[in-house]
Amino acid sequence: MSTIQKDHVVTIHYILRDDDGDVIDASEAGEPMIYLHGHENIVPGLEKQLEGKKVGDKLTAVVEPEDGYGEPSVAELEPLPREAFPEDIEAGMQFMVEDDDGDLCPVWIVEFDDEVVHVDLDHPLAGVRLHFEVEIVEIRPATKEELAHGHVHGEHGHEH
Ligand code: ZN
Repeated sequence: MSTIQKDHVVTIHYILRDDDGDVIDASEAGEPMIYLHGHENIVPGLEKQLEGKKVGDKLTAVVEPEDGYGEPSVAELEPLPREAFPEDIEAGMQFMVEDDDGDLCPVWIVEFDDEVVHVDLDHPLAGVRLHFEVEIVEIRPATKEELAHGHVHGEHGHEH
């Protein structure tokens, strides 16, 4: 029986809660999440705890911020001009912007008006201890193409 290991495509159902037990995110019934194990498709703390599990296994994984979405940074960013963003933005959306060194880095929209967009360097879940409840649905070896791309293809994966 195959177990979760590097270069395998893993399908899971999950519920993600915070310390208060409030649900932050969850896979939908009939729409499990699929990812490529060992390629940082999911937060490292969860990936580590899924290693070696098999189909049908259920587990609770508690992931500290440093193995999840990181600790919140203290950096404050200048607001960016609204016209630098597409029409249909929402709070919580992620964008890649160039920093002062010309490197691309991810930012998240906090709020915006007609003039400016306030962004934050932190993932919205930075600093949050993550409580995952996971059920392993399927495990299969990745195809050569998937390994080359570093992500899953086909249903629920990348379409291209
Ligand atoms: Zn691809």
